[in-house]
Amino acid sequence: MKEFNLPLFMKVKPDALKELKDNLDLYFPDVIGKRILILTTDGLLQMLEKKVTLMLSQLKDYEVVTVESSSYDYAVSIAKKISMEGVRMIIGFGGGTALDTAKYAAFVANVPYIAIPTALSNDGVCSPVSVLFSKGNRTHSFTSKTPDGLLIDTDIVLKSPRLLQEAGVGDVISNYTALYDWELDCKYNHGQPNDFAYMLSERAVNALLYSNIKSFTSPEGVKMLAQSLVLGGLAMQIAGSSRPCSGSDHLFCHALDELFDHGLPHGIVVGIGTIGAAWLQKRDYRMLLEFLKEYGIDINPKHRGITEVMFVRAWLFAREVRKERYTVLNNMEMMPKRMREDMFKELYALMCRI
Ligand SMILES: [Zn+2]
Repeated sequence: MKEFNLPLFMKVKPDALKELKDNLDLYFPDVIGKRILILTTDGLLQMLEKKVTLMLSQLKDYEVVTVESSSYDYAVSIAKKISMEGVRMIIGFGGGTALDTAKYAAFVANVPYIAIPTALSNDGVCSPVSVLFSKGNRTHSFTSKTPDGLLIDTDIVLKSPRLLQEAGVGDVISNYTALYDWELDCKYNHGQPNDFAYMLSERAVNALLYSNIKSFTSPEGVKMLAQSLVLGGLAMQIAGSSRPCSGSDHLFCHALDELFDHGLPHGIVVGIGTIGAAWLQKRDYRMLLEFLKEYGIDINPKHRGITEVMFVRAWLFAREVRKERYTVLNNMEMMPKRMREDMFKELYALMCRI
């Protein structure tokens, strides 16, 4: 039987950070009094001084390390430090740079990993994958581990830039199109999606789409977003791949990342890719647009600095990014390039009218 690693605890509430010691004592009794490494990024220590003091006051033997870069080599150097210096646990405090590095270092060094995200911008919070820079300064996804514990302090998340939470919503709605693409792939390859992973990913997106909260600027809204992102992460772990949460929506994002320096958060580009993917799948993209409007999330590509040329080139290239993945884009392969170009131009015009 396949085994899965679920986090031993997950607290999402105001002042959740206050419960760090209690949870560590309860779930990790052998770590009490032992050395803990805290990975964070420059600036956060000052910006969240009070919260950082609260966190550190609950630990005895610790070292705070500021992540220099979220590169593969750097994460491995942290893993080496953990092994050489007898560190017994790693805590990631911050956004993707700190968390993905901490997660990978903990995976390599085989020590427990606690995630304390300061923003909710993508489903990497609880996924078994670390996105790190490697060869040619490109990002790659590396097999990693899910956190052994999660503390999501809503006071901290509510202070993070709104754009990051908008990105988190964008990453969740892509489950809608990713699941459709996953089914297409299974039909083409005569397989079956994993039922449980499918259900978790579907629940994650539906919980957000059909919620009455309609805002993520309250502790309840943050909790809802956190739960959806975590469910997505667990779906990926169960499926053994990112397929339940990543389809042509993400291929568009990866293509745009490879071709252009756009500076947009992952989830914003994925949100734009999701509308495009739903349109290509001939599904109800208007329902998604309505939902985004209610939350005040602008996914008009022009407003986000994506020109028609960038948009069309990224969609044309998307199929090449991960050729082994069958998606709705494969259904367009027989179409002449000119026709596909015209389709993407039509899509761009439609999305600019939003
Ligand atoms: Zn994503």
